[in-house]
Amino acid sequence: METTDVFANSSVVDLKVKLENASNIVLTGHRSPDGDAIGSCLALWNHLKESGIHSSVVMPDEFPNFLNWMPGQDEIVLHSSSPNQAEGLLLTADILFCLDYNASSRVGEMQSVLESSNAFKVMIDHHQQPDDFVDLMISDEKSCSTSEMIYRLLEIWGEHGNISANTASCLYCGIMTDSGSFRFPSVTPRTHKITASLLETGIDHSSIHTKVYDNNREGQLKLVGYAITEKLQVFPKYKTAIISLSANELNRFGYEKGDTEGLVNRALSVEGVNFAAFLHESGDRVKISFRSVGEFSVRDFSSNHFDGGGHHNAAGGSSTDSLDQVVAKLISLLPEYESKLNYEAS
Ligand code: 5GP
Ligand code: MN
Repeated sequence: METTDVFANSSVVDLKVKLENASNIVLTGHRSPDGDAIGSCLALWNHLKESGIHSSVVMPDEFPNFLNWMPGQDEIVLHSSSPNQAEGLLLTADILFCLDYNASSRVGEMQSVLESSNAFKVMIDHHQQPDDFVDLMISDEKSCSTSEMIYRLLEIWGEHGNISANTASCLYCGIMTDSGSFRFPSVTPRTHKITASLLETGIDHSSIHTKVYDNNREGQLKLVGYAITEKLQVFPKYKTAIISLSANELNRFGYEKGDTEGLVNRALSVEGVNFAAFLHESGDRVKISFRSVGEFSVRDFSSNHFDGGGHHNAAGGSSTDSLDQVVAKLISLLPEYESKLNYEAS
């Protein structure tokens, strides 16, 4: 397989030697880690471990329950529950990986410690417009997932032939979740070739889909039903659909983190809709997920109005205003975007 420029660089090849000589390697992902953040970190963690190289995975906060089968997940150090241990690891790291995020603010409460760590920092990420806060940046916005990029890293190191089933299951999960189960435009023939080689390690891909997607609690499913029945607002003139949920509404269904994963895509699935938003109260903030199909850039929209960013068709942001205020602001912005939102998505 050919490699692209971001990997075909001597620093990326030399990184393996650096890792062999390091004494404290730490792998980090973004706040509210998803399948790709956990998948890419645990894939590298498993692969290094099998190569005799010890590392630690440190995450800002909890990951959703549907990832609690992943090999190595029980050894992840969470900053939210073990801040001293997490900060100790970050501060004594000699190599620190920043996986699946492009700005130090994406690690939330860990940001200042991450920034003050003297470790050699390596970013591997696929989000647009990365901030330059690392020593080695491996950024490919065309890649469907960071997990796909970890495969390519192992390929550059000449180790893709030795990927274990444990490592492969982490990579498969990251690629699957970030590509919408292989449906987003970012999926390429190469993604499928990589996935094929992961399947050749003997992983049970069907059981990974079941563990991730067919693992709903009753309350969670009822919350989704409620959100769609009672809270979906469609604005045909703007080809937009919005769902919002307050903390009270979430709690009524025994909300746990991750329960609303994918809800924004249900809003986007309404016929003719090009732009969808899902808003929910989370602590002292309103967290917003944006999705689009086709030419409307939710990354630009989110960074212009909701202090956020992400990708062209999938982005997020947040606000400290009340939920009602944020919903009202979003609705009030739609007329300004009417012409940009009115196209036929192919
Ligand atoms: P999600 O809606 O799944 O939380 O996030 C979708 C995408 O937007 C992810 O790729 C994520 O990195 C990005 N994103 C989500 N929230 C934020 C945010 O608050 N700030 C920035 N810059 N990006 C975000
Ligand atoms: Mn990702």
